[in-house]
Amino acid sequence: MSRSSTKQPRTWISRRWRRLLILVLAPVFALLTTTGQASGYALEGLRWHGTPTSGCCAYIHVQFNTFSSSNDRSVMTDAMNAWTGSPANVILQALPGNLTVEDTTATEPWVGATFSNPNWGSTGSFVWVHVVMSIPSMNALGYSAQKEASMHELGHAMGIDHTYGCIGVMEGTATFCGYSSPSSDDVAGINALY
Ligand SMILES: [Zn+2]
Repeated sequence: MSRSSTKQPRTWISRRWRRLLILVLAPVFALLTTTGQASGYALEGLRWHGTPTSGCCAYIHVQFNTFSSSNDRSVMTDAMNAWTGSPANVILQALPGNLTVEDTTATEPWVGATFSNPNWGSTGSFVWVHVVMSIPSMNALGYSAQKEASMHELGHAMGIDHTYGCIGVMEGTATFCGYSSPSSDDVAGINALY
């Protein structure tokens, strides 16, 4: 089951579609680059400007755009609360801002996808981040996987990249690892940024 889309950007495809493509390739990358190894957190290179670089807490606004599925909206809220309730130095609030979340009725090969400007691989500050969850994909999952997928995309939306070996919600293969909240490794990644 696919889940999301982030990995290293490639320059031969438009930025908006990179993550979608990489999603499809993610299991291949995993086999090629991380066979059997559990690595620690990875950073995307971008973070939210104007937030503390350490200590509690960076307040990150999550703007809810259209959610056709009330379930997906509810799960996203649960995922935000899971990050806020974790030891990560972030508090996610449902307020207007440049980190937007929504869902789509479109059938997609992924569960969630996250887009950013600047694109992945850049350094500095996010201008905007957009998270989309696929309703058909979400509907095929149980609640725990839905929440894990939503926590995963929010992790991207704050600046952390994939890990491998089920050491956290940022798992980069098409696997759900059973985390109901961010792992210590996920938290360490976020706290390297905020
Ligand atoms: Zn991902």
